[in-house]
Amino acid sequence: MTEELFRDDATLRDCSATVLALGEGGVILDRTVFYPLGGGQAGDAGELLLADGRRVAITEARKSKERPGAVLHLLAPDADLSLLAPGMAVTAQIDWARRHRHMRFHTTTHLLCALVPHPVDGCSITAGYARLDFHMVEPLDKETLTAGIARLVAEAHPVRHRWISEAELDANPGLVRSMSVQPPRGLGRVRVLEIDGVDLQPCGGTHVANTAEIGAVVVTKIEKKSAMTRRVVLGFAA
Ligand SMILES: [Zn+2]
Repeated sequence: MTEELFRDDATLRDCSATVLALGEGGVILDRTVFYPLGGGQAGDAGELLLADGRRVAITEARKSKERPGAVLHLLAPDADLSLLAPGMAVTAQIDWARRHRHMRFHTTTHLLCALVPHPVDGCSITAGYARLDFHMVEPLDKETLTAGIARLVAEAHPVRHRWISEAELDANPGLVRSMSVQPPRGLGRVRVLEIDGVDLQPCGGTHVANTAEIGAVVVTKIEKKSAMTRRVVLGFAA
């Protein structure tokens, strides 16, 4: 089990940690700032800094398949595994420029949910683009959505998360906007993301602290993926 520091503070760029195990092509730490691929958001990349000053590149973080609750920090195929051993103290440091792009795009997908009141049936967030699929038949307009995003960014809405009980979630089924990603259950509590006056939904991803921090994000494309799906693609303005 890895303590996931990014869940309570998405602005953490590094942390001290101890190597718990090696395997599955990567390293498991007792705590981490690396967000593992999930909920449509790409996993973080970065480095492990060793006590002797050497660095080990992490290509991407994933959820461990063999150890439920553990975050796996994937190593490059040619990484020198002999540098690492269980019990070793390291500093885990994410590629912040890449993660901040994930956070800006991810928060924008919440704004889109407020602008397009239809269920979401797919989502992908990378450092270069993001896309959100809506279960709907009506056409969407690129310029209208871009203007809507710009307005919500300019209004500088605070973004924060809090935990609610599963019972509270069950009593408010409208909180679950996504058809493809259900909030993780069994922990007794669910993390919800709230953008003041704009959007409220369960989400475990990383977000900026205020919509103003998103900056210039535009809708680059709208695609009709199927009779019942409209895909909105986001990019950073040049
Ligand atoms: Zn989110």
